[in-house]
Amino acid sequence: MPQYAFFNGKFMPLSEAKIGIMTHALHYGTACFEGIRCNWNAEQEQMYIFRLSDHYQRLLKSCRVLKIEIPYSVDELCQLTVELAAMCGYREDIYIRPLAYKSSEEVGVRLHNLDDGFFLFATPFGAYLDVTKGARCCVSSWRRVDDTMIPPRAKITGLYVNSALAKTEAFENGFDEAILLTHDGHVSEGSGENIFLVIDGQLVTPPSSDNILVGITRDTVIMLAQQELGIETTERSIDHSELYTADECFLTGTAAHVTPVTEISYRKVGTGQVGEISMMLQDLYFDVILGKNQKYLHWCTPTYKQTKA
Ligand code: PMP
Repeated sequence: MPQYAFFNGKFMPLSEAKIGIMTHALHYGTACFEGIRCNWNAEQEQMYIFRLSDHYQRLLKSCRVLKIEIPYSVDELCQLTVELAAMCGYREDIYIRPLAYKSSEEVGVRLHNLDDGFFLFATPFGAYLDVTKGARCCVSSWRRVDDTMIPPRAKITGLYVNSALAKTEAFENGFDEAILLTHDGHVSEGSGENIFLVIDGQLVTPPSSDNILVGITRDTVIMLAQQELGIETTERSIDHSELYTADECFLTGTAAHVTPVTEISYRKVGTGQVGEISMMLQDLYFDVILGKNQKYLHWCTPTYKQTKA
């Protein structure tokens, strides 16, 4: 199946979208990106893009931090994305990656007096973590980068070296995912996911001030828990040891969906089985992203003009 990109203001085959080896962003991590999922609903023969405009609102905020200016509004970015996804014609889950970057081919660490570029591509993308069984996590020896260093609320490419160090350490030690603590020892997030604990039937998750990316899946889960299950979420700093005393734990992210965690650093989470509340939220979440729940259909942008349903 031919793959396409939107690059330098036009659509083209992915194989033709190339950047030069001197590109600033490649050397200094000076780019912002998003990860957007299009979820294939086989019954309706439709692909739904989840919370598209929210991703672009976050991208434009990230760009403000890095002084990147792209010549598109949120609405225009959404239109380009739907066009690209439709052009590719996939009939499976795909991932869309927009990236806004310092495009000057120039040596010199800075943000000012540089050109900005933007591209977008789509690629097939299945499960990132196994959502059917519980993930085994470790508390990373790497600490989460602080807002005073590279602000994690902005999705900046350079920041992901921190995530990559933690993820590979976890993988090489036989775990599925890493949980990073802040420099003062509070729970922050996974390498590419937000984290929730279930404590006494309520949800607890770190606040945006604990160096997390404020996730769109996190927001979705907070809303679904409240509106569909009557479960409230407290956003507060979480001590390291609460990871070992919580009843349930799960990770959320565009790639990871809602992934239950059943083990953290060789300790069982709760009973060691996938938790009940985690499963209820995962079921609700999958229905919502597949466009099966009418109440949340406004979050789902259809890619193809005709639907079977
Ligand atoms: N934290 C980090 C570090 C991430 O990379 C991601 C994935 N974008 C998330 C959290 C989850 O964010 P979202 O739910 O918006 O995908």
